[in-house]
Amino acid sequence: MSCEDNGLLERLLECETELAGYKDDVATWTDSLEELSDIEDAFTAKEEKLHGKTILDIGTDCVKPLYIALKFEPEKIIGINEYLSSYSFAADLEQKSRLFTKTKIHLYNCSFFDEVQLGKIQRRNTIDFVLVSKTLHHLRAGECIAEKRDEKHECQEDEDSCIYKFEEQDIFKRLLRLGKRVIIYEWFDPTDEDVDKVRGRGGYFTNKEWRRIFSHLSENYRVEFVEPLRCRLEKKEVEKVMAKLRQVDCVCFHVETK
Ligand SMILES: [Zn+2]
Repeated sequence: MSCEDNGLLERLLECETELAGYKDDVATWTDSLEELSDIEDAFTAKEEKLHGKTILDIGTDCVKPLYIALKFEPEKIIGINEYLSSYSFAADLEQKSRLFTKTKIHLYNCSFFDEVQLGKIQRRNTIDFVLVSKTLHHLRAGECIAEKRDEKHECQEDEDSCIYKFEEQDIFKRLLRLGKRVIIYEWFDPTDEDVDKVRGRGGYFTNKEWRRIFSHLSENYRVEFVEPLRCRLEKKEVEKVMAKLRQVDCVCFHVETK
């Protein structure tokens, strides 16, 4: 193959990567719409209006804030994501959304675990709702539990091979320190692998993890389910929710202090 051909091949591969990026961008816009049909019910429980309210969107996809702004017109939406730069349209969206919504949208490159930056955001805003959409399983911060699932796991403490424990006690305590109502939306499939390894080091929650999370929440918080069924999560409802969980691919609920 000549040098010229090599150059062409390289360019083609670049184009392919670029195209894949655009495809992901488009998927973000349509996926976001799908998620919102469940999430909006969690915002507006008790016939609440969002006017004058502030929402913190953790692990934002940058698109949901715009949709929420257009439909519900809250005062402000603050989106944080530690990989904000992977959303090529984030800056444009933040700037240009001002032309057609009064809701202030602010997007920050910030991790949920960055207490300093998050503290600054919190001091400047009174947050009413904390949205955690498709992000809860990325908030794993405990020790590696990969060995429990695979005996052959040799722990290198790296992002690719390890699966860290989800520490529900700590995470929900932190989330409820940020805002009054925490809305969780998770899409999952136990048979599918989550290729996005950020902090979750992959891995949607297993049924065992969900049971542990729901038990903890039912005992300590006021939890209302929107999907897969509508109910207040009392201790005795945990198994009912677990049975439903096997038939669906998403879960949506909101958590408040008792
Ligand atoms: Zn490990």
